[in-house]
Amino acid sequence: MRNYLRNIYQTLKTILVGMRITIGYCFARTITVQYPDVAPTVLPRFRGFHYYEIERCIGCDLCAKACPVNCIYIEKSAPRKLDKETGLAMGGAIKRYAIDYSKCMFCALCTEPCPTQCLHMGNNHDLSVYNRASTVVEFTELAKQGLQTPMPIWAQKRQPPEWATRTRQAWLDRAKPKREVMLLAMTERQPAPKPVVAATAESAVATAEPTTPTTAKPATDNR
Ligand code: SF4
Ligand code: SF4
Repeated sequence: MRNYLRNIYQTLKTILVGMRITIGYCFARTITVQYPDVAPTVLPRFRGFHYYEIERCIGCDLCAKACPVNCIYIEKSAPRKLDKETGLAMGGAIKRYAIDYSKCMFCALCTEPCPTQCLHMGNNHDLSVYNRASTVVEFTELAKQGLQTPMPIWAQKRQPPEWATRTRQAWLDRAKPKREVMLLAMTERQPAPKPVVAATAESAVATAEPTTPTTAKPATDNR
């Protein structure tokens, strides 16, 4: 009996707590952000659509393996590795790098294991599209256009609001100096061969000194 009454009490209490919060919001002042005319607030650690630096990607698949919903697709022609001198990945070509945003949960688990830190959660908060197929973002196709992140519809308008123009320009400026190497990442190329180290004077003398002639053993006649 005591348990029965306690359960009734707990139920009524939780309903009242929930209703108090709901009623509080009913009488709160309404705030309407006039998006897209006014910029939305995007906090510094916001996890938006990725931006991807293809020129440093070694195609190791670690991001795809870490993804809990398997929404990253990678194709490469051969293994790639990072050239320490240039900081660019070389070897095979990146044929495809795509993310299906109809599945992505923006958990950032893909960015954690990336050994070259070339995959980032960006500040792009909006990717409205007109059909389901467009939710799969082909980052290799973007790289051909010199882009690291997909452009939202508002960024493609002729006269976007002032904040949108600034955001779009920041994304373009970030990718602009890398356009050439982004294109090269989709082609096969090898690091330049290391220059041969010139022989030092000492080693040259040592090489010039006559060596003790070895006495060649006469071939044993086994006949
Ligand atoms: S953010 Fe999460 S769900 Fe989205 S691609 Fe990365 S690991 Fe997968
Ligand atoms: S983990 Fe990084 S380097 Fe490896 S395939 Fe993914 S993005 Fe490229």
